[in-house]
Amino acid sequence: MAAWSDTAIVENISTIYKRISHSAMRAGRNPEDVKLIAITKTVDIKRIQEAIDWGLRIFGESRVQEARDKISNLKSFINPPLPPFSKGGEGGLRIEWHLVGYLQKNKAKMAVHLFDLIHSLDSIELAIEINKNAEKIGKTQRVLIQVKLSQEETKHGVAKEDLLDLIKAVSEMNNLKLEGLMTMPPFSDDPEMVRPYFRELRKLRDTIEKSGFLLPELSMGMTNDFEVAIEEGATMVRIGTGIFANGS
Ligand SMILES: *Cc1c(COP(=O)(O)O)cnc(C)c1O
Repeated sequence: MAAWSDTAIVENISTIYKRISHSAMRAGRNPEDVKLIAITKTVDIKRIQEAIDWGLRIFGESRVQEARDKISNLKSFINPPLPPFSKGGEGGLRIEWHLVGYLQKNKAKMAVHLFDLIHSLDSIELAIEINKNAEKIGKTQRVLIQVKLSQEETKHGVAKEDLLDLIKAVSEMNNLKLEGLMTMPPFSDDPEMVRPYFRELRKLRDTIEKSGFLLPELSMGMTNDFEVAIEEGATMVRIGTGIFANGS
């Protein structure tokens, strides 16, 4: 069992990297401009450790509580990466943790302690809370603003109409560093159905940059649709099942 699962993760990672490279090159982009965020919700520590051993460095969780338990258990046993992913140099063995799921205000303090980047900032109230907690521990918290582009009621994120106001507010907060935008399109089996949402997020970003705000990062694309997202300009793809699913 264990041996089989090792092979699966390694093969999955290398397949995903190849597909990332191909789609970036298709779009005339440098594959190194696309960061792979391995989404580890529901994945156990042992398998996360395998991914770390194979050179993955950025991990994402969707729930603060679950992340806390895992991060505290992983810290002590980070091994050096194995070839062919042992690049060395920048960052060394440091693992980055990202929060990609919805963040409640009352979890902001814990989130600031745990995460290098929060992808799901979506209101001024939450920004104030994150900023306050970051200030308390002398941290500059990196954030992305999650934008709601579809009408699906259950999706979190700030409405397009309110985005610029939120950006302005965030840019005045001393302990927040806004790096870009994130979106979650409605689910579809067909990546072409979600391409317009990715395109829209990039256009929104381009428009806002004209008014002087820099938003270099676009977090968009998951297992089903990351290639389309990369073609549309994603700089961070969030991939869970494509890496950790057993077979399928
Ligand atoms: C689960 C999740 C992902 C990864 O989804 P997969 O389809 O498993 O790749 C990406 N982003 C968010 C916000 C998620 O909750």
